[in-house]
Amino acid sequence: MWCFVIIKCPYCGFEGDASEFNYLYEVTLYIMDSHVEREERERSVLIVCPKCKQGFFLENPYKRFYEYLDYNGSRYSVIRG
Ligand SMILES: [Zn+2]
Repeated sequence: MWCFVIIKCPYCGFEGDASEFNYLYEVTLYIMDSHVEREERERSVLIVCPKCKQGFFLENPYKRFYEYLDYNGSRYSVIRG
């Protein structure tokens, strides 16, 4: 069974199947004593429109950060440290 996911570009309005878009995933490599350390940070995949070449996220890249703050109490206490 085929599954098509239609994505709409928020900049130019182009709509297409997910396979028509390009995807960019940023990675930082931490090298400690010649070994590559695993990156703890999770990053969102940047979706690049094939028509206007603008990049955008399907969801807020800080969503998990805000969920963490909501779960662990007031965000103000975290900001103040
Ligand atoms: Zn576009």
